[in-house]
Amino acid sequence: MKAVAVFPASREVKLIEQDEPIITQPDQVKLRMLDIGICGTDKEICTFAYGTPPAGADYLVIGHEALGEVVEAGAAVTHLVPGDLVVPTVRRPCPHARCRSCRADHQDFCETGDFTERGIKGAHGYLTEFVVDDARYMHPVPHHLREIAVLVEPLTIAEKAEHQLYGLMQRRPPWIDPAVSERRQGRGHTALVLGAGPVGLLGAMALRSAEFETFIYSRQHEPDPRIEVAKAIGATYLSSQTLPPSQLEAHIGPIDLVYEAVGHSLLALEVLRALGPNGIYVLTGVPGRQTLIEADPAALFREMVLKNQVVLGTVNAGPHNFDAAIADLETFHRRWPGAVHALVAERTPIEQAVERILGRPAGIKSVISFQSCAK
Ligand code: BGC
Repeated sequence: MKAVAVFPASREVKLIEQDEPIITQPDQVKLRMLDIGICGTDKEICTFAYGTPPAGADYLVIGHEALGEVVEAGAAVTHLVPGDLVVPTVRRPCPHARCRSCRADHQDFCETGDFTERGIKGAHGYLTEFVVDDARYMHPVPHHLREIAVLVEPLTIAEKAEHQLYGLMQRRPPWIDPAVSERRQGRGHTALVLGAGPVGLLGAMALRSAEFETFIYSRQHEPDPRIEVAKAIGATYLSSQTLPPSQLEAHIGPIDLVYEAVGHSLLALEVLRALGPNGIYVLTGVPGRQTLIEADPAALFREMVLKNQVVLGTVNAGPHNFDAAIADLETFHRRWPGAVHALVAERTPIEQAVERILGRPAGIKSVISFQSCAK
């Protein structure tokens, strides 16, 4: 069967042939992979800046934003049957007894750093025709989300951020009443999303659903499908080509929340200066190697202290964030079907995956697909 693998030592990314895996434990499932999303992390792995093969292997099969169909379930698997659609989690726990997070099924908060991530760190990923995996890490998805369920994993990043935010926001002005449902936490609050890629746009959908007044700040200018998505979900799009970061505050007013989804440290720093009093700044983008920038940490920290600001970094996502993402994707789909489908405008067959990953993306979210889509 075909797989896309990166060989760090020889600096190669290529289509390889592998044996089809078989179930060896009763709690495993075998999946036929359907769609695999490509993100900035995959690009970094394919340019050898990130990623680690499994111990003893000289290559890593990539792919972590996945949708698969169960084709076989081990004897001990009770919650899945062949034909079910599933999205797997990415991160798997470290083995250490002292890691309270991993021992409590919160490997997204692993304390030792010895976790593995499928398709990224120490474990093969999903950009291959069949995979055998532990059933406990599979999240079932309703069949009517088949065409868009590849967006679940990038949405989990926003779900984890929002889940942490809710607790924080209840204790800070502009206050939210603890009795108000998590679904309405944004009412009366202003949010600025940095970046109009899939994580930014899905995060903006989550913020709009929670009733934040939402602005999206990115480099595209009209006409652009990302701007159409922003408009369709009721967000205001601001182009960095016409509005510099220094003018954001004057343009928007006090910003209660920044949701950063770019991974660009200079932009992140410039926009931090625009964060309002008592504001919360959530960083989700992982910056790659970038040129050094000059900063004045004393001025920066002084402002943060004097304005009661919070900067929160967040990575990966836990099991309940996957369940929340599946439920929210359904809500987004009901509310903004055109905008959600616009994120996955094209699909690329695995034979052209390497060119697609290294070259120009197709649509807002590049997706590698193993079969023509059921309509
Ligand atoms: C993935 C996360 C992962 C992170 C760091 C992101 O692209 O979506 O699951 O934890 O990269 O490796």
